[in-house]
Amino acid sequence: MSRLAHLELPFFDDAHRALAVALDGWAAENLRGIDHHDTDAACRRLVRALGGAGFLRHCVPTAFGGSSAQLDSRSLVVCRETLARRDGLADFAFAMQGLGSGPITLAGSPALQAAWLPKVARGEAIAAFALSEPGAGSDVAAMACSARDDGDAWVLDGEKTWISNGGIADFYCVFARSGEAPGKGTEAVAKGTRGISAFVVPADTPGLSIAERIEVIAPHPLARLRFADCRIPKANLLGAPGEGFKLAMRTLDIFRASVAAAALGFARRALDEALAYARGRSMFGQALADFQLSQAAFGDMAADIDAAALLTYRAAWQRDVKGQRTTREAAMAKMVATENAQAVIDRALQMHGGLGVKVGSVVESLYREIRALRIYEGATEVQRLIIGRDLLAAASA
Ligand SMILES: Cc1cc2nc3c(=O)[nH]c(=O)nc-3n(C[C@H](O)[C@H](O)[C@H](O)COP(=O)(O)OP(=O)(O)OC[C@H]3O[C@@H](n4cnc5c(N)ncnc54)[C@H](O)[C@@H]3O)c2cc1C
Repeated sequence: MSRLAHLELPFFDDAHRALAVALDGWAAENLRGIDHHDTDAACRRLVRALGGAGFLRHCVPTAFGGSSAQLDSRSLVVCRETLARRDGLADFAFAMQGLGSGPITLAGSPALQAAWLPKVARGEAIAAFALSEPGAGSDVAAMACSARDDGDAWVLDGEKTWISNGGIADFYCVFARSGEAPGKGTEAVAKGTRGISAFVVPADTPGLSIAERIEVIAPHPLARLRFADCRIPKANLLGAPGEGFKLAMRTLDIFRASVAAAALGFARRALDEALAYARGRSMFGQALADFQLSQAAFGDMAADIDAAALLTYRAAWQRDVKGQRTTREAAMAKMVATENAQAVIDRALQMHGGLGVKVGSVVESLYREIRALRIYEGATEVQRLIIGRDLLAAASA
């Protein structure tokens, strides 16, 4: 079976199939020699290379050098699945160009869009999305970073943490509290998602500094940012004041399905590795693949992958083709694909025996790569709540 056979499903058009073939071929040629030891340098190189080859066009709308009017979710899914199957850092570099510029695509003024999106598409500007804080991760409404209206400028004070591309980004889409503070009684807490606004903050803005570079088990550029009396022009506001939380959620609704696709790419690679290893490894007078226990494991892995794929492709198709809200479907896709991928990769690692935990083996790196996907852009527990609440809201409508 061809490694891209899943693209025959009716969720995709021929353009998606052609994109997958082109990107897979490009990745096979171009990702092999990239040294990952210096993740900052590797990411910069990957962004430039992906931009130069035209693949970052899928991260911005047509009017600014992109490939579709409103971002095509299936193209994002195809790109992330294809890249993740080859190289986790390449997937990361691609994904952050989309997520980091997503708020500008959705709500930026024409001037902000023209200033940043063409550069994002060409790989000339690196993007970042700054929502999380030390005291506000899953609980976004607890956000404390503030934005004060000061005549001709907004003034940002506070911290953001776990910011991907932190330290190498050229600009950050930052969410900060411009309205009422939460925490003063039940009603104020309930309103905590209201008074939040979003801003574009160029990396060289005085008052913005990198407070800490954070190392994680699958290395990629990550940092805690500090804003101290950081003045940004009024024109850098994204959308209307107080609309920032909705903008963050709209952005995540689009990109959550692409996190599912990355998980799918990692899981497919793990299955490829396990099949090859089990067929070649002899024990007790036969190949590991000849044992029924191995065959049952492969059955579970393949079913887990297909279930995740169908949910992921449905979420993307529903947004592109039906033009419908996909909050529930994207949450289901992210939850199932990331959890299933973790299980698939764990089985693949187990099949490799000691080699599975040897630093530098493919399954060892997949085991590290997949872990954060179950946490960021909403942990699995958060996705379960999104799905459950959406179902209840629909039932009472
Ligand atoms: C590698 C990496 C990259 C990231 N990149 C970015 C980025 O680019 N931009 C950005 O803004 N943020 C980013 N994040 C932050 C990420 O979105 C947060 O880590 C995530 O939202 C969880 O927040 P937290 O870490 O504060 O955990 P907490 O909110 O403290 O949650 C801890 C755990 O509690 C559980 N939990 C959550 N809600 C509930 C509930 N209602 N009931 C029961 N249990 C619950 C979950 O298991 C969760 O993992 C990144 C994180 C990582 C690890």
